[in-house]
Amino acid sequence: MRTSLVPSAGAPDPSLAALRAEVRAFLREQIDAGVFTPGVDTWLARWNTDFTKALAARGWVGMTIPTEYGGHGRTFMERFVVTEELLAVGAPVAAQWVADRQAAPSLLKYGTEEQKRRFLPGIARGEICWAIGMSEPESGSDLASVKTRAVEVDGGWRITGTKLWTSGAHHADAFFALARSAPLDPAHRHAGLSQFIVLLDSPGVEIRPVLSMSGEHHFNEVVLDDVFVPDDLVLGTVGDGWAQVTSELGYERSGPERFMSTFGVLAGAVDEAGAGRLPADPRIGAFVGRIFGLHHMSRGVSGHCSGTRTRRSPRRWSRCSAPRPRATSPTSPTNWPTRATPPGRGSPNWSEPASCSVPDSPSEAARVRFCAGSSRGDWGCADE
Ligand SMILES: Cc1cc2nc3c(=O)[nH]c(=O)nc-3n(C[C@H](O)[C@H](O)[C@H](O)COP(=O)(O)OP(=O)(O)OC[C@H]3O[C@@H](n4cnc5c(N)ncnc54)[C@H](O)[C@@H]3O)c2cc1C
Repeated sequence: MRTSLVPSAGAPDPSLAALRAEVRAFLREQIDAGVFTPGVDTWLARWNTDFTKALAARGWVGMTIPTEYGGHGRTFMERFVVTEELLAVGAPVAAQWVADRQAAPSLLKYGTEEQKRRFLPGIARGEICWAIGMSEPESGSDLASVKTRAVEVDGGWRITGTKLWTSGAHHADAFFALARSAPLDPAHRHAGLSQFIVLLDSPGVEIRPVLSMSGEHHFNEVVLDDVFVPDDLVLGTVGDGWAQVTSELGYERSGPERFMSTFGVLAGAVDEAGAGRLPADPRIGAFVGRIFGLHHMSRGVSGHCSGTRTRRSPRRWSRCSAPRPRATSPTSPTNWPTRATPPGRGSPNWSEPASCSVPDSPSEAARVRFCAGSSRGDWGCADE
């Protein structure tokens, strides 16, 4: 009988199960052919443009981008299934990750028609790669403290500042730079910020490697020295950067990479425990329980974005590509212009969580064996 590492939390969906099987078979073939070796943190650190293009050719990049922009018009749940399978085997997916996960949805939500037509088809083909231009040397958790400045000039903006921890910038084509486009008003710190599409081969952009302790290079420091960004590469509304960037962070924080970056290590431990080479440590059950909870939460976000029916949300609609709500223009310090803001949408409505029992004593450790028969290639999921 087939066993699951992550127990089912929802009603079976045959189409998602078929998609999962298709992706899994493809990945198995790729591993067997030596195309890649499974790893950890591969969505950050393993950049393989050929592999990304191979996935794109199968329609597994840009899945939720509408077909009119070169995407595949599929649901966030379908994308979630593909994403989990890629993470479960530690496939080399860094080249597509940021573009697919957050740049494309942000462009769909805030981009102009011209920006969508310019960037989205290339993202769906796996040819345009994106980085994240948020953090700075003295601005991390408190992102409203960014010091990068954007000054309006004839035909566009001049941007000066330093971005840090910019994963993959040395490979990427562009990032959204979060910059202060109006002087800081201490009483309204979140006002006066804007996002700009910076092409990373622009004059004035310098990308310096930041090596990790292991010597790996995926972080960078990106110095922007008076970089010109034309008006047609402003993302969304000038002054509305805080609403936009926090919306973008929603995509960044909700995905399964947050809890599956090292999934292969857990699967390996389960296999070893199942084979009797590791003691049946109850902590394995606790880890599996934790993954289950996070999986369900993350799946709930995707289901919500797909308009999946849930007990609390019987309507079927797609909420994740609509503009954010704003009743009024953001408060802006004097002397700095504000522009019109888009109409609103409702707040999220989560599906109900399923219960999950986690073994917490050695005597219950035997129950961990619900997962001990699994292997890297055989872990079940809530959508099947
Ligand atoms: C793997 C990885 C990849 C990343 N990739 C990117 C990227 O591509 N692009 C990008 O822009 N950024 C990236 N980041 C940066 C990440 O978003 C920053 O690390 C984050 O913004 C935190 O900033 P910081 O390191 O300056 O820490 P700080 O913000 O200085 O925080 C340090 C510590 O202080 C705590 N702290 C901060 N403020 C408060 C407070 N007010 N009250 C209490 N505690 C507080 C924090 O919780 C933390 O424990 C990446 C980070 C990681 C780990």
